[in-house]
Amino acid sequence: ADVPADAIVLCNGKDLSEWQSANGQPAKWKLEDGAMTVAKGAGAIKTKKSFADCQLHVEWRSPAQVKGQGQGRGNSGIFLMGLYELQVLDSYKNRTYSNGQAGSIYKQLPPLVNASRMPGEWQTYDIIFTAPTFNKDSSVKSQARITVIHNGVVVQNNATIWGATQYIGIATNQQHNPKEPIMLQDHGDAVSFRNIWIREL
Ligand code: MG
Repeated sequence: ADVPADAIVLCNGKDLSEWQSANGQPAKWKLEDGAMTVAKGAGAIKTKKSFADCQLHVEWRSPAQVKGQGQGRGNSGIFLMGLYELQVLDSYKNRTYSNGQAGSIYKQLPPLVNASRMPGEWQTYDIIFTAPTFNKDSSVKSQARITVIHNGVVVQNNATIWGATQYIGIATNQQHNPKEPIMLQDHGDAVSFRNIWIREL
């Protein structure tokens, strides 16, 4: 579908002008065929702009050539506010822990269903995200919430996010800015992204 008139285009496939490295250096991901691809070792990239409540459209593709298994296959991630990971993984006939597959909020919320396409095919995430809010004493006032539609199928339905993504341990909420950049993960796999746009809500 066309990009909505009021959307900010974050990836037009022609440049990385909306992105920088997580450490603030220029983004070093590969740009080819209208997509940007993880350059192994280049590290995560994040948007120059910061966002809170939003509608976010992302198209992504795991490598056509299957290597590895479980979490080692087509792994990347979309970190809303740089903290809350919507997992990107090649979950086509690829078993892993349920809250680590594509469409999961990593280590917190499994997707309602596995809607994955085959490796090498473009897939879509349509995300509706509500940022958490905090009280003056920095305690959480309202937790983050997320709806995710994966390839046209609802996989997260206004689900409550526990807190910032943790690899091990229970996620907790920690105060951060009202708006934060969106980050894309370098997990060492050549995952590609294209046609990313966002509408602030
Ligand atoms: Mg990941």
